[in-house]
Amino acid sequence: MFAHIGDIALMNRENDGAIANLSFVIGDDAVVVIDTGGSALEGSRLLAAIRSRTDKPIRYVINTHLHPDHVFGNAAFVAEGTTFVGHKNLPRGLAARGPFYVDAFRRIMGDDAMAGVKIIAPTLLVSDEMRLDLGGRSLLLKAWPAAHTDTDLTVLDEKSGILFAGDLVFVRHVPVVDGSLRGFLAATDALAHMPVAKVIPGHGAGIEDWPRALEPQRRYLARLRDDIRALIARGASIDTAAQTAGQSEKGYWELFEDYNARNATAAFAELEWE
Ligand SMILES: [Zn+2]
Repeated sequence: MFAHIGDIALMNRENDGAIANLSFVIGDDAVVVIDTGGSALEGSRLLAAIRSRTDKPIRYVINTHLHPDHVFGNAAFVAEGTTFVGHKNLPRGLAARGPFYVDAFRRIMGDDAMAGVKIIAPTLLVSDEMRLDLGGRSLLLKAWPAAHTDTDLTVLDEKSGILFAGDLVFVRHVPVVDGSLRGFLAATDALAHMPVAKVIPGHGAGIEDWPRALEPQRRYLARLRDDIRALIARGASIDTAAQTAGQSEKGYWELFEDYNARNATAAFAELEWE
């Protein structure tokens, strides 16, 4: 198993979108890639890193969810015999948001960084659980109900006990809620009960102290939920929620200012209807 730990940053011109953690696993017969990066360039670099270690065919490319930093490198892996794999909702999500992502990041990262980026949807879809065989090594894929997004997929390497959690697990990088706050809390609790040897989060360093390393994420999400419930109970507006909810967590996270208000707004809209 090989993992590249990305920088804690937003995708920009300087980093070519290379911020997410990317991994690959080599079996006796084949290789699987787990997330491809935030540009075709980053995808090509990942491909080169794989080819420096093995000539085995890349049989599967798994995208853990629809966000650009995890899927924009897909084009580098289009080849005969390579199957793209994702959550059953991923084709729909990419169709709905893909063109917007490409436009938005062309403005943010520039034409050079966006060269070669293509939205490539999976053709092998996971609706519950699925096992992929790499020869002497199997991966257990699990599709989750809406949490970080509504396309979250985790990958367990059953031989090593390593869990590739995608953005269902954040370390240092403030958790991002783009699916369901309540779902994200439920997924966090369910993940804590999984017996794993090591976890590769979507952002931040690899984790061996499990499930304790999940505690900051649980605390942040619960804080956001409780603050917003209290604001709704006293009739506060969504703007007030965006400005105040979760603020006590500010000192614990990187990119807090970039995401917290957005998280609070999304969570307010969700919790208003409880
Ligand atoms: Zn994400």
